Amino acid sequence: MNIERVETHPAASPVLPAKVRTYWLSVAVDVPVNGPFEYSSSEPVPIGLRVIVPFGRRKLVGVVVGAPEQPSIDEAYIKPVEAVLDDLPPFSGHWLRLARFAAQYYQRPLGEVILPALPAPLRKISAYQGKRSAGGPVERLARRKAPALAQVEPAPALQLNEQQAEAANTIAQTQGFKVFLLHGVTGSGKTEVYLHAAQQCMARGKQVLFLVPEINLTPQLEQSIRARLAAVVAPEAIAVMHSGLSDSERLRAWLNAQHGRAAILLGTRLSVFAPLPNLGLIVVDEEHDSSYKQQDGLRYSARDLAVWRAHDLDIPVVLGSATPSLESWYHAQRGHYKKLSLEQRARQVALPAVRLVDTRRLALQQGFSPQLLEAITQRLQAGEQSLVFLNRRGYAPALTCSSCGWVSKCPRCTAYTVLHRQGGRRSNLQCHHCGFQARVPHACPDCGDQDMRPMGRGTQRVEEHLAELFPTARIARIDADSTRLKGSAAQLFAQVHAGEIDILVGTQMVAKGHDFGRLGLVGVLNADAMLFAQDFRAPERLFAQLMQVSGRAGRHTQGAEVLIQTDYPEQAVYQALVRHDYDGFAQYALNEREAIGLPPYTYQALLTAEARELASASKFLQAARSLPEQRAGEFSTTSLITLYDPVPLRVLRVANVERAQLLIESVSRPALQGFLSKWVHALPELAREARVRWQLEVDPMEI
Ligand code: ADP
Ligand code: ZN
Ligand code: ZN
Repeated sequence: MNIERVETHPAASPVLPAKVRTYWLSVAVDVPVNGPFEYSSSEPVPIGLRVIVPFGRRKLVGVVVGAPEQPSIDEAYIKPVEAVLDDLPPFSGHWLRLARFAAQYYQRPLGEVILPALPAPLRKISAYQGKRSAGGPVERLARRKAPALAQVEPAPALQLNEQQAEAANTIAQTQGFKVFLLHGVTGSGKTEVYLHAAQQCMARGKQVLFLVPEINLTPQLEQSIRARLAAVVAPEAIAVMHSGLSDSERLRAWLNAQHGRAAILLGTRLSVFAPLPNLGLIVVDEEHDSSYKQQDGLRYSARDLAVWRAHDLDIPVVLGSATPSLESWYHAQRGHYKKLSLEQRARQVALPAVRLVDTRRLALQQGFSPQLLEAITQRLQAGEQSLVFLNRRGYAPALTCSSCGWVSKCPRCTAYTVLHRQGGRRSNLQCHHCGFQARVPHACPDCGDQDMRPMGRGTQRVEEHLAELFPTARIARIDADSTRLKGSAAQLFAQVHAGEIDILVGTQMVAKGHDFGRLGLVGVLNADAMLFAQDFRAPERLFAQLMQVSGRAGRHTQGAEVLIQTDYPEQAVYQALVRHDYDGFAQYALNEREAIGLPPYTYQALLTAEARELASASKFLQAARSLPEQRAGEFSTTSLITLYDPVPLRVLRVANVERAQLLIESVSRPALQGFLSKWVHALPELAREARVRWQLEVDPMEI
């Protein structure tokens, strides 16, 4: 190995005690076992530094999280740390508190929080081993020249309207902890408010953390933020972090943040863990967005951790949205959060008119109502763009035999395989759950009939149909399939922005954030599919999504229109959309949640088990469920805790694994936390006996 040790004192110092002292360290490492683990060192190591430690037969990078006076186990079993990595200053007390809080709250070992939060080169032992390693990744990166940043044309700050100015000033004048809920209709200019507040924060020499939901939003937003801040900060002082970066790009941004060189860090959910020594303001844009919730490993909510961070640092945090999560809205109603409202669009254009097309008694043509086709025709004639929104990719959700009713199914999942066009006329069947692919059978596998038909429609089929109906229109499709190649999403969006597209077909990828200039019409197909999803948050999500996608229309021009095709026009969600009435919808949905005792009036956690057979998964969940009764002495708060019956997941089997889950609910967050922290320790043994894999999710988004 090629590691230099840090010599904190010269060896010949006369004050050195005669006997070599041993220092005890607790070290967090990324293993699925509760740590931290104890090691020894002949010299003191500051808390927050990284070290290399032996672990079993491996060596791992860990972080020193404590220095106990005495070890908790027999000294004879304690191994010395192998090396102290001094290429970074120690993590701050605040940063370690954040990690500790996340570990406790989400019931994970501390090492599984701390290490995955670091850029890969800082936690991989391989980066510090081998012949080429002299110096480690930080020094290697420092020796390489930073890539030149593209020149941006500076954009002047906009003259804020009255409500924007009031919101921005209120935020900027706040220095202690406060949560602002910036509720602004789509196109109301929330970004401008964030940037004004951010600018004032940076002017005081403080850093800004600006969280955004998804990578597809970042390029456009990054450019406009760079342009807007060009007059205020140097280009290097704007750091950007998202999952599309290479390891070294991410490391560079992270180091800029950690070093205090970045005045503003713009990033997706993982950036909430970035060390920012001088943090003065946090912004969470589109705070309701589900991509703030990590869906594997540590299942954290970046929005919730952002609020915790602001509280710990005693600084303001801004949560912004046109459709706030009901949790945040509830906090604002109760006065825990301060609500700031932007009621009008910034560009003096009216919100689009939303119309419901009742499809119950209509003859649809390939899923299109006559009203929608007529509206598209008119927009084409007027030289405006239309967006057809359908949240279902592929050609058709399944293939079916018209004589016997056979339907294409995935052999590994309880799901249909989706028919996909592969370019030209070639097709295949794909499972959206496990990735299984199969050829399209020439004849029905059950009855041999050759009359096989696509069932329903996805974006590819809609695109094909539009091309037949409007042969001269320029049509593009934006979904996960058409944007698989790196850069292709940006290119497609650029075409739309340049006015080279007349009709855009897209999934939720097009719904968010984009500021389309000439979009006059949005047509929504198959919205009802989401209305009847089993999850209690389905109406909330549907409302947010339709409000967002509607908000893409008429951002720069008057007279825009949104047509929603539905069989259930009387539903509250749709009625509220017609009136642009978020407040009304939120009140309605909150009343309903209160009546049945759902979040935000209660707190939830979800235990999921996976096994070859459902029976094992259920058995494990049953055992976990009866544990508190069996050990009543240990689980004293169980009167406040409801453990529901285990139920199989709606898509029971995925990739030959069957899944079930158990919902835990409480009216008290501390009671739930207390219960979970005991319960989680008993689960590994139960899982070993039942041979299942399990995971526990706190504040689950989907049930
Ligand atoms: P939101 O995020 O609230 O949907 P944006 O921040 O994207 O809205 O702003 C919508 C549009 O309005 C953008 O084109 C933006 O440049 C413009 N805009 C924002 N504030 C102002 C203002 N004060 N004056 C003029 N235009 C503005
Ligand atoms: Zn058949
Ligand atoms: Zn499958």
